[in-house]
Amino acid sequence: MWRETTKHERNLRIWREELESFVPEKILDFHVHILNAGVMPPGETFSCAGHPIAGYDLDDLAADLAELYPGRETRAVCFGLPDPRYDAGRNNAYLAERCRGARFFALRLFDPVGDTPAALEADLRSGAFLGIKPYPDYVRKADINAVEIPEMLPDWAMEIVDAYGALVMLHIPRKARLADPLNQRQIVELAASRRRARIVLAHIGRAYYLKCVLGNLGAIAPLPNVYVDLAMLNNSEVLEYAFGVLDPSRILFGTDAPLALAPGKAVEINDQYTYVTPVPWKLSISDERRKLVFTSFAYEELRAIRKAVERRGLGRDFLRGLFYENGLRLIESVAAR
Ligand SMILES: [Zn+2]
Repeated sequence: MWRETTKHERNLRIWREELESFVPEKILDFHVHILNAGVMPPGETFSCAGHPIAGYDLDDLAADLAELYPGRETRAVCFGLPDPRYDAGRNNAYLAERCRGARFFALRLFDPVGDTPAALEADLRSGAFLGIKPYPDYVRKADINAVEIPEMLPDWAMEIVDAYGALVMLHIPRKARLADPLNQRQIVELAASRRRARIVLAHIGRAYYLKCVLGNLGAIAPLPNVYVDLAMLNNSEVLEYAFGVLDPSRILFGTDAPLALAPGKAVEINDQYTYVTPVPWKLSISDERRKLVFTSFAYEELRAIRKAVERRGLGRDFLRGLFYENGLRLIESVAAR
């Protein structure tokens, strides 16, 4: 079994020794991908950090949450897998039907090329979705690094999102990510011009290494409708810095499951980052010589959060907010509109 949960004795030991006393009673994972049957082209698999999977539905998630966080009350914000080759409509329909807003909450994949204002408006009006999940790939540029935020989120879409006070889970584009001045300017413009919309910068703007985050949250931190999630952040220095400059009520726990259940770690080397995994994966350096025993990206993230929290001297209130209350308050405020 590729999933690194407490089903494996080695992870149960980490849970008991390092995490059980630290992780609060209630957990809301704000960043989960769901891939139900029939979304991928027939016969295709998705590479979960090098482990091919045929799908990942809400039943898989429920089972994994129980095994990742034994004894905890868990919830999740879920969205499909943004790939222009996949059937986004089917992915969205499954989540709309199955996430009824008690335990699992849905975001709608948004494709600026394939979507229409009428379809987006109808889906947000239905109340089945908290908001949308755009993605750089949906812009369909030959050079993915040339994509800009307004191309992922055209005006007509943001007008609808704003009208419904809905949420945008934003995976920012461009090579320099959070450190990119154009990204920063466009995030500020977006948040300021669409004040009812809530923008979540996934992965703290994809700042997985220290130089990417240092000095780059100054323009974003004061924006009252901008949040960050911590998905796949395994770097305690990045977190320690972010916890020092961001409003604590706008930091959301998230993992990027199912990816985060795979064995591996994001590591910083010489002002860059890569993933290290036990098996080959297109985004990683892999441990061909089997030198290491791995745990999940999710547990590495929990360890990094713990280290950052301890260094900053942050208390249980901060943790309850981070792991659950901040996200739930955001969900409730969106649902209330
Ligand atoms: Zn993701």
